[in-house]
Amino acid sequence: MPVTYRAPKGTDDVLPPESRAWLRAEKTFIDLAEVFGYDIVLTPHFEATELFSRGVGEATEVVEKQMYTFTDKGGRSLTLRPEATASLVRAMVEAGGVRGTEKIAAWGPMFRYEKPQRGRRRQFYQGDIEYFGEPSPDADVEVIEFGYRYLEEMAVPDVVVALNSIGDVEDRAAYRNLLTTWLMERQDDLSDDARNRIASNPMRVLDSKADADIVAEAPAPVEHLADAAAEHFTQVQRGLRRLQIPYRIEARLVRGLDYYNRTVWEYLATSYEGAQDAAGGGGRYDGLFELLGGKPTPAVGVAMGIDRIMLMAGKRADQPALDAFVVIADPNRRDAGLDLVSELRRRGLRTDLDLAGRSVSAQFKAADRAAAAWAVVVGDEWADGKVTARNLATGEQETVAVEGIEAWLKGR
Ligand code: AMP
Repeated sequence: MPVTYRAPKGTDDVLPPESRAWLRAEKTFIDLAEVFGYDIVLTPHFEATELFSRGVGEATEVVEKQMYTFTDKGGRSLTLRPEATASLVRAMVEAGGVRGTEKIAAWGPMFRYEKPQRGRRRQFYQGDIEYFGEPSPDADVEVIEFGYRYLEEMAVPDVVVALNSIGDVEDRAAYRNLLTTWLMERQDDLSDDARNRIASNPMRVLDSKADADIVAEAPAPVEHLADAAAEHFTQVQRGLRRLQIPYRIEARLVRGLDYYNRTVWEYLATSYEGAQDAAGGGGRYDGLFELLGGKPTPAVGVAMGIDRIMLMAGKRADQPALDAFVVIADPNRRDAGLDLVSELRRRGLRTDLDLAGRSVSAQFKAADRAAAAWAVVVGDEWADGKVTARNLATGEQETVAVEGIEAWLKGR
């Protein structure tokens, strides 16, 4: 049969055994978020289109070119979320705003109409944390540290934080004029895209790959910070040094979304050979709450790119998917086997069996396929209250009392 249906371009099916590694990545993220004091928030995977065009910015690549926008049967314009922050801020504003501080985490798929390649997908996954209500540079440091520790736990090697400050929105007007003039003088040498951006969003030209050689010489926002933003940036760097998190200043890093001010950063996996070497990115966005109708609320957050992290971490030795696979060696003892499976599952042991009533060797094959650590054989020894446990990796075998089997398995 020819395959008629395929996953849409730029999307992936994540099947076992790989899916187990993805699930671990999610669990690791959420556990670490809890360790840092962040609570999970769930929001819709689609929102009113205007939330993103306002929140992310009309003149950004994401809004101009990458949104999956559709009209629903009620005539509303909706968009599959291209990022999480705008939704999370909307949710907080809708719930009455932030009292004091609020630390939240989110996880899930994002959608962008991109040119697909390795590490750049149309549906991809992000883990996010957001620290709302705290203006201190130590909040930036905490959020940067969180992403760095996550990459440590995920065993991504050689990570460095590319760090920059783009200043405050009010200070940016002067810089923007300076940059606009500088770019206008060189507009004949710029790419079409860059030239079109001079009027609408000149800072975006700074991270245009096609114009990298030219903009390397451009005035950088970090050289034009007002005192408050400069002091904030100094304190962020002090915090990173104290925690021994490696960073380097990347004067042309501006990041693609409009809402940032002051600190912006990305995590670069420096020994990763793929073209997409940013494992995540974040920044401060003190103006977004007001922009979306809320009270002024300082905020800083990060989004970790799970698809890329899975590529960067490489293949790790596969962990067993099951603790036990119950093999029924005597068909007359099927009920005993089923009861044993139920009992082990209630004790929290990952347990399965083959229900097709096949031969013992076929059941052992199934146990291998299911990536079980142990086969637990229900056979003649059941009459004496015993089972045989066989280690499926080494072949080592032992007779164990049924009474104590779950403690025995847990102790392995
Ligand atoms: P951004 O806020 O757009 O920089 O996204 C944060 C992180 O998400 C990036 O550093 C990437 O790791 C990841 N990411 C962004 N877009 C994609 C994509 N299209 N496919 C896979 N990962 C992505």
